[in-house]
Amino acid sequence: MGIIEKMRLYGKRGFVTGAARGIGKCTAQAFAEAGADLAIVDMDIAAAEETAKEIAASTGRKIIAIKCDVTDEAQVQAMVDEVVEKLGGLEFCHANAGICINAPADEMTYAQWKKNLAVNLDSVFLTDTIAGKYMLAHGGGSIINTASMSAHIVNVPQPQCAYNASKAGVIQLTKSLAVEWAKRGVRVNSISPGYIGTDLTLSSPTLKPLIEKWNAMAPMGRLGTPEELGSICVYLAGDTSTFTTGADFGLDGAFTCF
Ligand code: NAD
Repeated sequence: MGIIEKMRLYGKRGFVTGAARGIGKCTAQAFAEAGADLAIVDMDIAAAEETAKEIAASTGRKIIAIKCDVTDEAQVQAMVDEVVEKLGGLEFCHANAGICINAPADEMTYAQWKKNLAVNLDSVFLTDTIAGKYMLAHGGGSIINTASMSAHIVNVPQPQCAYNASKAGVIQLTKSLAVEWAKRGVRVNSISPGYIGTDLTLSSPTLKPLIEKWNAMAPMGRLGTPEELGSICVYLAGDTSTFTTGADFGLDGAFTCF
């Protein structure tokens, strides 16, 4: 089999969290175009259903929508059970849901800190370990986590200590699981996007006005698009990346190079 054929995801079943829109929607589209059946998982079920319909129509794959708050252990367990029941198994997943709360550290409330850590880091622990337990017991699999360039640098000018800390945690969690599961057939990797044009940036009243400043600092002088993140995720979910685990992939147009 040629390498491109081997990269395809025919016969694989997966899910993407935070997939109703933005980065998750684009990686879901890419997984489906590569041949996978999958679940669009989001707390916004109306948007998730629309996205599932759209991707199913453009790819002909079986795409289902599942409502889930990824910070809730029981809901994550029920979501994974539903994926397995409706798709027949689970070979890959993309833990991608996240939020960004901007506040100066000396004004940030403990509730804001906890919310950001719950959605961005606790949820990755829940998603990875609940999906991972199934994969460990059923022939292995591949897990992809969305970290961020904010795991590597401190963004300016916006203050976002909780976000940065949560994403650094995602990378160390990824590496820890990769090492623990390396001999047991489950691979765990992360992606670290730079600034990407999604609702998180374009629709945020605090972040949108900063885009010109970010672009002035960016070697490419622009935001990335969510579509530019799909192919690496297809690679990670597939069978040409079998020696790739515990890795973090920077997708930031060289933003973190200096
Ligand atoms: P987005 O706001 O466009 O989409 C996020 C989706 O996650 C939404 O559909 C939302 O409903 C869902 N979601 C939020 N909380 C949830 C929860 N508790 N349970 C289930 N679903 C939930 O954001 P995006 O830009 O596509 O970001 C996706 C991921 O990429 C996030 O982890 C984000 O931190 C990360 N990221 C984004 C950028 C960027 O510039 N946009 C850069 C680096 C990393």
